Amino acid sequence: MRVAALIVAAGRGSRVGGGVPKQYVRIGGETILQRAIDAFALHPAVALVQSVIHADDGSLYEDSLSRRPAALRAPVTGGSSRQASVRAGLEALAAEEPDLVLIHDAARPFVDRGLIDRVVAALERHPGAIPALAVADTLKRADAGQTIAETVDRAGLWRAQTPQGFRFARILDAHRAAAVEGFDDFTDDAAIGEWAGFPVALVEGDARNIKITTAADVADAQAACEAAMTMESRIGTGFDVHRFAEGSSVWLCGVEIPHTHKLEGHSDADVALHALTDALLGTIGDGDIGQHFPPSDPKWKGAASHLFLTEAARRVRARGGRIVNVDVTLLAEAPRIGPYRVAMQARVAEILGITADRVGVKATTMEELGSIGRREGIVAMANASVLLPFSTAQDQS
Ligand code: MG
Repeated sequence: MRVAALIVAAGRGSRVGGGVPKQYVRIGGETILQRAIDAFALHPAVALVQSVIHADDGSLYEDSLSRRPAALRAPVTGGSSRQASVRAGLEALAAEEPDLVLIHDAARPFVDRGLIDRVVAALERHPGAIPALAVADTLKRADAGQTIAETVDRAGLWRAQTPQGFRFARILDAHRAAAVEGFDDFTDDAAIGEWAGFPVALVEGDARNIKITTAADVADAQAACEAAMTMESRIGTGFDVHRFAEGSSVWLCGVEIPHTHKLEGHSDADVALHALTDALLGTIGDGDIGQHFPPSDPKWKGAASHLFLTEAARRVRARGGRIVNVDVTLLAEAPRIGPYRVAMQARVAEILGITADRVGVKATTMEELGSIGRREGIVAMANASVLLPFSTAQDQS
């Protein structure tokens, strides 16, 4: 049985805040969409994962994924309704000829392996199967004045969840037929199965498989993620050297220090901030300073190097990371660093948004050995330590 997953991520819902559709909001350092994709892409029974996104969201989608499991296909563009978006995804999958398809809302990031297993197992006996929860609350129907008109019998009523599973050919045919007949407002795929006249079974849903809809849902999900989250410790190193040139001051750790020379470089040549930037980028495997701020780009000519370190810190935080400490050692015969050490610590702490006791600034001479000993330039070496959310999914992809 070849099983495909279709992740429907074309919605515009942004009630959760953050100014982006909710599937692109991060909880516990990962986007809701990434969590939904991983749930299927890392499931041993699922061979391929197809997502459907809105035409305007190409770059949001690219930025939203911190990893791309092998099963994940390039996204396709959805249509003007949920139903049209699902159909676009099914048409894209048709060439792959899956036996089964699991259609899932991107806004349900907590779907687990057991739930997926139950849906797949039910498809051995039924052309369609969806997870659902029996309604536990007493149901009321209200009149226009919001007073109770009647109590509704809840026997036999269920709340539908996703993934909704189908034999692929059956649901593709049903979607095509519904489109031909001019229907475009089915709110889930089971309803299309019902309309097409094939049986759709109910399997046991999961109360944790919530559909994130409001800002309160995001806050709850964030708290749940943090409670379950293991942080892992990351370490990065950085190294940089700049030579002296004619001038009257050097920049080190964002502090200008009077000197007989300046340091030569495309930016302000702050060798210490450059090494720190590389150390931070190293903690998340995100390239180096030359890649993010190429010296060939005139934009960075004479740039203040705190911009580089600020961006590296932003990249760490975008991954849910927390900077634990940074430490830099300068190798220089001159100028003397001691008188500026406190100011340098304070400045780096300010740039990174951490306390000064998390910033080490040290210096040594080279005992007049080698090029640094001959006062031809200054070397900086740096370390950074970061705590990053640890996802078991990352190890399995
Ligand atoms: Mg440099």
